Amino acid sequence: MPSHIDIAVNLVGSALEKDLNNVIQRAATQGVSPLIVIGSSLQESRQAIACCQQYPHQLISTAGVHPHHASEWHDNSTHELTLLAQQPQVVAIGECGLDYNRDFSPRPMQRRAFANQLALAVELQMPVLMHERDAHEDFVDILKEYRPQLSGALLHCFTGNRASLERYIEMDLHLGITGWVCDERRGSELAQLVKDIPANRIMVETDSPYLLPRSMRPKPKSSKNEPQYLPYISQYIASLRGQNAAEFAAQVYTNTCKFFSLKENYEPI
Ligand SMILES: [Zn+2]
Repeated sequence: MPSHIDIAVNLVGSALEKDLNNVIQRAATQGVSPLIVIGSSLQESRQAIACCQQYPHQLISTAGVHPHHASEWHDNSTHELTLLAQQPQVVAIGECGLDYNRDFSPRPMQRRAFANQLALAVELQMPVLMHERDAHEDFVDILKEYRPQLSGALLHCFTGNRASLERYIEMDLHLGITGWVCDERRGSELAQLVKDIPANRIMVETDSPYLLPRSMRPKPKSSKNEPQYLPYISQYIASLRGQNAAEFAAQVYTNTCKFFSLKENYEPI
C-alpha cells in the first residue's frame, strides 16, 4: 500500500523523463505513489498530461505557468490553461507564483501571470500549487486578494524565515517541505521552523531531480534527486518535529489526499 505521495516532481524535460519507467518503479518500491508531475509552462503542462496518460495509475499532474516562464503569458493563456486544467489528470493549477531570486521573467509579468492564474483557480474552484523565492511581500499582496475564494492554496518548497512562515500560516496555506531541510548549512533555519507548521497543513515533496537531501548516508551515486527518496525526507522531518515517522507519514498522506481531492489508497484509473 502506498504511504507517500510526492507532490512535486519535475519530470518534463528533466533527467527523470528519460528513465521514467524505472523512476516510477523505484518510487513504488518505497511506497511512493502517485507522483504529482509539475506543469511549468503551457507546453510542459501538455507534456505532463501526456505522461499521465501513459502511466494512469502512477502519475497525476498540475497545469500552470511558473514565474520563470511568466514572460510567455499572453492574452489567450487563461483560455488555454482552462482547457488543460479540465483534463481529468490535472489536480491543481500551478506551479505559479513569484521568483525574484532568479528574475528569469520581468517582475510585472510575473505578477500578472500569478494573479491571472489565481483568478482562474478561483473560477474553476481548483487548488493552487505556488512557488515563492525572495518575493514574500508582493506574493502576499497578490495572494491575499484571492485567498478567501480559493479552495486550497499550497506553497511548495517553503524555505522562508519565521516571519514569512507565520504570515503564511495566518493565510491558512498548506506548506510543502523538501530535502532542503536536510542541508546542515542552508537548511538549518528551516529545520528549526518545521515543528511549528500545523499538523494538518504540512506536506512533503522531493522537487526532484533538484534538491537531493544532503544528509543521506550512504550518499546516492547520482546527484539527481528522485521520488524514491521521499520517505527519507519524511522521516527526517518527523524527527525534527519529534513525531513518530509512521504517524507523521499518515497525517501527511491524509493532508495530501484532502488537498488534491484524491481518494485515500489512491488508485487512479
Ligand atoms: Zn518551485
